[in-house]
Amino acid sequence: MTTTITTSPSCVRAALAVPPNVRLSDLDPSATPCFPGTGPQDAAQLTTQLSKELGTWQEKLYAGSKAKPTPPQRMLVVLQGMDTAGKSGVVRHVFGLVDPQGVKIHAFKQPTEEELAHDFLWRIEKQVPPAGYIGIFDRSQYEDVLVVRVDELVPPSQWEPRFEQINQFEASLVDSGVTIIKFFLHISPDEQKARLLGRLNNPNKYWKYSPGDIPVRSKWAEYMAAYEDVLNRCNQDIAPWYAIPSNNKWYRNWAIANILLDHLRQMNPAYPGPSFDVDEQITAVENSL
Ligand code: AMP
Ligand code: MG
Repeated sequence: MTTTITTSPSCVRAALAVPPNVRLSDLDPSATPCFPGTGPQDAAQLTTQLSKELGTWQEKLYAGSKAKPTPPQRMLVVLQGMDTAGKSGVVRHVFGLVDPQGVKIHAFKQPTEEELAHDFLWRIEKQVPPAGYIGIFDRSQYEDVLVVRVDELVPPSQWEPRFEQINQFEASLVDSGVTIIKFFLHISPDEQKARLLGRLNNPNKYWKYSPGDIPVRSKWAEYMAAYEDVLNRCNQDIAPWYAIPSNNKWYRNWAIANILLDHLRQMNPAYPGPSFDVDEQITAVENSL
């Protein structure tokens, strides 16, 4: 097999960047754009091949923070998608390719009483990755214009201004050195049905199943409408959305690994220089003990 992995990152990034005025019904959740292999059997290998370069960039990002650049470079990855779309699979298979010490994962659940007493961004701000880290949000600020909207947890007068508040929040993060990448894991309702049944047919997967997934699933159209608004109203160039066709897990993982790689190349973090005189220290080590 001839591989084209060196050109894949920019190809995938361009192909999956969410276009203006997107309609989700126009996007095929089973598509495999830019994939150079023939199917699942190549995908794992092609994804693993990216791990060396991904690992080097992650190490440079972390090491570079020791030089205390201003603003401090870091990355924030937002994962959104319907139940079973594969948010935790992406964490495991894609972010598992880099040193876990450099990654901070936070899963946002139903807000606590304390969180609800604050502005919706209060709990989000506390999880912004520090200098040198790759932060991953498994669900995010966007739940406050998704489930909150669909389930009418607050009136429209309250969630409507949040699109603009999120845009401003993300712009301020970018100004403070954060590279933001947002992934919508796009699956079809039929694929979700198969995955839910898969969980129910395997006792080792019962823990992943929740009867509460059915009422959410029954509002599929409302969720897609809410997602379309998110993708159309919060898709600034500085904090782009990617719609990842996720019916095929192998494609999903490969595509996200490529987009991640392309953004890390663009960030171009560098190892810091020494904070000491190297020759002096060589002499000191040689003469020690
Ligand atoms: P899971 O990701 O399956 O563990 O479930 C987390 C649950 O928390 C999902 O049902 C989300 O919709 C819910 N959730 C997350 N953030 C919010 C929020 N801001 N308001 C209400 N529900 C939320
Ligand atoms: Mg769930």
